[in-house]
Amino acid sequence: MRPSRATIDLDALRHNYRHARALGGGKALAVVKADAYGHGAVACARALDGEADGFGVACIEEALELREAGVRAPIVLLEGFFDAGELALIERHDLWTVVASPWQVEALERHRATRPWQVWVKLDSGMHRLGLSPGEYAHAWRRLAALPWVERMVAMSHFSRADELSHASTPEQLAAFDHALAQLPAGTPASIANSAALMAWPRTRREWVRPGLMLYGSHMLDAPRAEAAALRAVMTLESKVIAVRDLAEGEPIGYAGTFITTRPTRVGVVAAGYADGYPQYATSGTPVMIDGRPGELIGRVSMDMLTIDLTDHPDAGLGSRVELWGSELPVADVAARSGNSPYRLLTGLKRVPRRYADSGD
Ligand SMILES: *Cc1c(COP(=O)(O)O)cnc(C)c1O
Repeated sequence: MRPSRATIDLDALRHNYRHARALGGGKALAVVKADAYGHGAVACARALDGEADGFGVACIEEALELREAGVRAPIVLLEGFFDAGELALIERHDLWTVVASPWQVEALERHRATRPWQVWVKLDSGMHRLGLSPGEYAHAWRRLAALPWVERMVAMSHFSRADELSHASTPEQLAAFDHALAQLPAGTPASIANSAALMAWPRTRREWVRPGLMLYGSHMLDAPRAEAAALRAVMTLESKVIAVRDLAEGEPIGYAGTFITTRPTRVGVVAAGYADGYPQYATSGTPVMIDGRPGELIGRVSMDMLTIDLTDHPDAGLGSRVELWGSELPVADVAARSGNSPYRLLTGLKRVPRRYADSGD
C-alpha cells in the first residue's frame, strides 16, 4: 500500500478547543466548515460533541451532514442561506443562520415559523465582504426582533486582518462593531473573534468566539504569542522514502530540471505529491522531517512524488518516515515556502487516507 497518510489527532483537537474556549471566557463555536479544514467534519464534530457549545459551517449541506451523523449541538450557517427555499430545512433541522443581506431579512419576514429561531445578524465592520452596512444594521435588527418567533439574536462581525498584530484594522473594525452594538438593546450577545483575534486581541472576546484554524493547531500571527504556542497540530501528513539514488554534482532533478545538484547528492524519492495536496510550487529548501530530523525538499514537486536531500542524513534511506507537516513541522512553515496559507494546505488535503487517533482525553 502507498505509505502516504494523514493522521488526525483528536486529543489535540479537544486540547485546542478547550484552550480556545478558556481564552474566550464564554462560549466557543467550533468552526468545522470545509470538512473541518480538511480534517473530517463528522469525526471532528463527534470528537467535540458534548463539549463544544456549537459548530460553525459554511452552508446547509455541511450542516445536514453533521445532523445526519447524529450531532445535536447548535450549528450556525456562517454564510447564511442562499435562497428562501432553505428556510424549511433550517427549521426542520434546528439550525441557526447568519443574516447578512437585506433580502434575507425580507425572506425571514415572509417565513411562517413553527419553532423559535436563533439568528446571528452580521455587520460589515470594514471587511466589505458579507454583512449589513452600518447604516442599515440597526433597522434590519429591529425588523428581525419584531418577528415573534425570533427568540434570540446575536450580533456578529468578522475581521479581515487580525493576524497582523500591529495593524490598525482590527481596532478600527472593533470600534465600528461596538458602535453598532450601542444601538441595540443592552445585553445583546455578540461575536466577532476568529482564531487570530481570540489569541492576539483580548478586547475582541465576547459572549461567543469563533475559532477555526487554531482548533487544528495552526495560526498565521505575525508575531509570537503564548496563546498560539500552546496549540497542538491536529493533522500530520507523512509518507516514506520509496527510492534512493546518488547523483554527481551538476545533475538536474525532476520536471523541468529546476534544481541542479551543487554537490554529490543523495536523493530520496517520497510518495507524496500535489495530487495529495502538497503544494506544487513549494520551493527547494522547503522543510521536511526525515525520521524526526530536519531536512529539505529539492526539485519540483510532481503529482505523486517529491524529492528530498538525504546527503546529510546517512542513516536515512528506503522506508524512512518523512513528515511533510504536522506535529514536528508546522503546516504554516510549509505554506509560507509556496505562497500558501495553512488554511489552503489543510483544506486541500486529497487522496491520502485519514487515520484518526483518539485516546478519549
Ligand atoms: C471561517 C470563519 C471563522 C473561523 O476563522 P479562523 O480564522 O479559521 O479562526 C470565524 N468566523 C467566520 C464567519 C468564518 O467564516
